[in-house]
This record gives sequence, structure tokens and C-alpha cells, in this order.
Amino acid sequence: VEHFTRVLRAYQERLRDLMRDHRMKYVLIFKNHGAVAGASLAHTHTQLIATSVTPRAVAVELLSCREHHQVKERCLFCDILAQELQDGSRIVREDAHYVTVTPYASRFPFEMWLMPRQHSHCFAEVPEAELRHLAVHFRDVLRRLRHVLKNPPYNFVLHTSPNTQIEPKRAHYWETIRYDYHWHLEILPRVTRVAGFEWGTGFYICPTPPEIAAGHLRDARETEETL
Ligand SMILES: [Zn+2]
Ligand SMILES: [Zn+2]
Repeated sequence: VEHFTRVLRAYQERLRDLMRDHRMKYVLIFKNHGAVAGASLAHTHTQLIATSVTPRAVAVELLSCREHHQVKERCLFCDILAQELQDGSRIVREDAHYVTVTPYASRFPFEMWLMPRQHSHCFAEVPEAELRHLAVHFRDVLRRLRHVLKNPPYNFVLHTSPNTQIEPKRAHYWETIRYDYHWHLEILPRVTRVAGFEWGTGFYICPTPPEIAAGHLRDARETEETL
């Protein structure tokens, strides 16, 4: 947990530092685990790429959140969290600080989203004291995944606010983001193949219902010690 906390702190420090560079609109932190998921080095590592544009996939999510907020005056992810906590069938782990779910209409079998309970748009603003709670939670859900699917290849991506300190003439662009966006981690196991249908449509065929995946991941708790 100590080590994991230091890794998360490094993510934050790199994020904060790169956001000082106003040419950088977005900083993507991600991990490729296993050759199938694109890992090119044998030892475990995370990668970071800062881009001079907000990537399209991120922008679509940001704009959807803004649209939801304009209509409902609530954060989309806070709404998802409340609904998932009430329903319970897709919860993998919940504690006082974080919740991980297998999202409704998951794109991939055993896909998970880890979200802070408390609304926060930017991972760089997570207080130092929270990082340890996140390390405990994140480590636990990754161990469950490793146990249930026998160390599968996976990717995870950190979705956080783009750089809002960009040049003044664009400052208005994300001015409501503090209220309408909610940072999260998307954990994407690579147990099925993305093929022609997915590339051609942007639709994903997921043979494992998220409720079944969540059940397996919850049950992994008893065997945690043996991991
Ligand atoms: Zn929220
Ligand atoms: Zn996302």
C-alpha cells in the first residue's frame, strides 16, 4: 500500500507539473499490463502522454457530462454513483471514500470504473491524505481482477479534467468543468478482441453481463489472502 501510494503521488506530481505548460491541453495517464494490452516492457510501469489537443474520446465524455449538468443541474457521475449504490448489483467494492462498479452496458467483460464518492473534477486536486485510501481501494480491485481472470492483460486510463489553465481566450471553454465533470479510473481487461464490428461502429459486443462480472469480483474477497 505504501508503494502504491507513492505511485499515485507520482501521477499527481507529473500531472500538476505538465499542466503548468499551457501548450498541453490534456495529460493522459494509463497503464498497459500484458503483451496483449500493449505492454512493451516486462516490468510493471505506467505511461503518460500529454497532448496539445483534448483527445476526442475525452472530449465526448466531457461534453456529455456538461450536457447532463445543463439539464439536471447535477453531475452525471454523481448520478451514476447514487443509482449504482442504490441498485447494488454492479458494485465491486465500496468504502467510505471510493466506489468501483462494473458499469451498466460495459464495453468489455469485467470492465470496471473506480470513482471517488465525493465530487471532484480533477485527480491533481485529490488531497494527500486521500491517496492512501485510493491505494488501498485500487490495489484491492486490481487483485480481485487478477484472481478472478488469472492475471489477465488489461489497460487502465485515468480520466481527469483537461488543463483548464490554458490561454485566457479559451478559458471559458471548460469554465463549468469543476461542477459537471468527475474524475475516475477506467479499468479495461482485454479478454475479448476488438474486431471489425467494433472498429466499424464504435459499438462493443460484451458477452459477460456486468452483474455477473461484479458477482465474481465481489466473491474474490474470501481468497484475497492467497493472492
Ligand atoms: Zn460528481
Ligand atoms: Zn471516462
